[in-house]
Amino acid sequence: MQGKSLPRATGIEKHNDMINRARSLLKSVFGYDRFISLQEEIIENVLRKNDALVIMPTGGGKSLCYQIPALIFPGLTVVVSPLISLMKDQVDQLTTAGVAAALLNSSLSPEEYDHNVESVKRGRVKLLYLAPETLLKANIIRLLSSVNVDCFAIDEAHCISSWGHDFRPEYRQLSDLRNRFPEAVCIALTATATSRVREDIKTSLGMDTSGEFIASFNRENLYIRVIPKKDPVNQTVDFMKNFLNQSGIIYCFTRRQVDDLYAYLHRLGYSVKPYHAGLAETERHRNQEMFIRDDVQIIVATIAFGMGIDKENIRFILHYDLPQNIESYYQEIGRAGRDGLRSDCLLLFSYGDLQKIKYLINKKDDHEKRVASIHLNALLGFAETDDCRRIPLINYFGENYTREHCKMCDNCLAGKKAVQDITVASQKFLSCVKRTGEIFGANHIIDVLRGSKSQKVIKFGHQRLSTYSIGMEHSRRQWVQLSRQFISKGLLSQDAEFGGLKLTEKAWAVLKGNQTVKGRIEEDHPPVPRPELEELNHDHGLFEALRKKRKELADAAGVPPYVIFSDKALVQMAAHYPQDQTSFMLIHGVGNVKLEKYGHIFMEVIRRYCRENEIVLLQGEVPDKKVSIPTAQTNLRHIVIGEAFNSGRSVPDIMQEYKIKLDTVLNHLYRYLHENHSLKPEGLLSLSSLTEDEQKDAFNAFDRLGPEYLGPVFRELNRRVCYEDLRILRLYYLIRMNRNT
Ligand code: ADP
Ligand code: ZN
Repeated sequence: MQGKSLPRATGIEKHNDMINRARSLLKSVFGYDRFISLQEEIIENVLRKNDALVIMPTGGGKSLCYQIPALIFPGLTVVVSPLISLMKDQVDQLTTAGVAAALLNSSLSPEEYDHNVESVKRGRVKLLYLAPETLLKANIIRLLSSVNVDCFAIDEAHCISSWGHDFRPEYRQLSDLRNRFPEAVCIALTATATSRVREDIKTSLGMDTSGEFIASFNRENLYIRVIPKKDPVNQTVDFMKNFLNQSGIIYCFTRRQVDDLYAYLHRLGYSVKPYHAGLAETERHRNQEMFIRDDVQIIVATIAFGMGIDKENIRFILHYDLPQNIESYYQEIGRAGRDGLRSDCLLLFSYGDLQKIKYLINKKDDHEKRVASIHLNALLGFAETDDCRRIPLINYFGENYTREHCKMCDNCLAGKKAVQDITVASQKFLSCVKRTGEIFGANHIIDVLRGSKSQKVIKFGHQRLSTYSIGMEHSRRQWVQLSRQFISKGLLSQDAEFGGLKLTEKAWAVLKGNQTVKGRIEEDHPPVPRPELEELNHDHGLFEALRKKRKELADAAGVPPYVIFSDKALVQMAAHYPQDQTSFMLIHGVGNVKLEKYGHIFMEVIRRYCRENEIVLLQGEVPDKKVSIPTAQTNLRHIVIGEAFNSGRSVPDIMQEYKIKLDTVLNHLYRYLHENHSLKPEGLLSLSSLTEDEQKDAFNAFDRLGPEYLGPVFRELNRRVCYEDLRILRLYYLIRMNRNT
């Protein structure tokens, strides 16, 4: 503690007042019902003017920890952030919620810059965002000295440490701040920090040792999966079938890889853009902007992408290549699902990629090499584990994660394979390693065991060894998994540079038959498990209508869509159909200003949709905060229509009787099917004007792209088949599919 006092007012009463203010600002400005994670404790501390080091995963809710105090402090809060684009987004978000925020950096025109300086001088700004190099300019220091600065928030604080993965020298100079502004409280925030980095941050910023807040790193909404990389292009396309029309990032190791994969996906008709340091600044910027604004769905990028974006509705992160280390990996997947909705993270793992990274690490100097190897090994432990993926991942960040079953990773969902005796397999493998001279990697050993006639086998004459083709009982895939177990059980050591395998002491005991080995043999083609979608059951048609409106408003205001409302907010609207202010206010992220600005516009969309689709709300139900919003009850028209159709009535008949359009009938039938009723297929195809060949093309497109979204299918068929026809065919397709499963 450095003798700081509460801002002006002292005493417990005043302090309690401030806490209560914080709680009410949470809803009235930001639109949230309760604090999450450690936000409340942190805010309380900052308000008491105790320094705080905050360690929370990406998407954990760090911003509020200084944004709320900033609204309560009488003076200014300065936020130091390394990325210009991120600053702009945050300022946009705050301004949209009615908060006086501004930024000063090189992206502003001289007029804007002067205007912002003037606003700060006049005390009109509560939050000022600055880049570290801007902050330390003489004129800015003068500006800040002339006003009352209550708080410095240092975002991405790990950049201050050379033990972090993203050291930035200009952050070092921030230590100066404490001397110049001793009255201001300091809150440092980061998503990745080992204990070493933490110490570095605290000493560099001269923070007192007390206030360290480490939130849980477990991001429960991320489904984490690692699979062996075999046919990466097709694995990618397969994976993406689950995310039509949704946002995602694919990370590659090299620019070249980005360009190739981008070109391929682009040819297939995906809405995709590349991003890497080799592109012109303007193009890079444009691509990022399109992604943020939902104008393009997928970005193929090198690791250079994502640091500066706050986009909330990223639904998947695919690591096409191995990331550099576990910290970057966690930060990269952390970009998914900031809105709290389920998101998928898939890593394609190969030992070849591992060698590439090791090669790069070996070129570094000694200190860097050590740091990088520690980080890389942690990543390897994560990729190779049979246990819950969250154990190595979360424990790496210093948290003691012990839960056995997270339900949201591949290993947990696959269930534990029974442990069995794998002594014989071990002996075969180990003796093959021995006989080939202890210089080859697992792939070659497996080739020999499985009797391959590869050039390499022939060249070394390994087809003449006694261990040649003695391992046909296991598939290649099973052997690969076995070999990993041999390494992790300490029977084999692996050359760090070339990947060659060597026997250990322990291996000899096994070879001599003095020791048995227990382990797991994977099934050859395990079904890909998918966790239950815990997402709120919502009306997809309404969601699309809301999304369209949001996009329109965002474009008009020149901001990314999520600045207006998050996907989570739209999902809630599409589940609960709020049509008055009280119930609209219960939606995630709706505060006073947004209610006033956007409430009526979105409620109008909801009302219109309900009218057109004959959805009526339960009458007289009072919204209850805890139970949340009254769920809409429809008049069950889709059931009536579904049953009529099943009983043999024709669609034109139904249209006439109920006085509804073909589209509406199709919607009802779709919904009927969606709720797990079965439908008969007869009488559907005749509604379509397509030839049999055209129909076949469409079905093939559904096979490839999935039936969830029609947009990609429409594009795939060169925009020649109208949406009405597509709806008919999709319905038929789904009925047929349901029957086959
Ligand atoms: P970080 O900076 O830690 O990556 P953010 O501050 O951007 O995380 O917050 C991530 C998301 O969490 C935000 O988009 C916001 O919607 C949500 N969020 C933050 N605090 C709360 C809260 N108290 N209740 C509900 N959602 C919250
Ligand atoms: Zn798990």
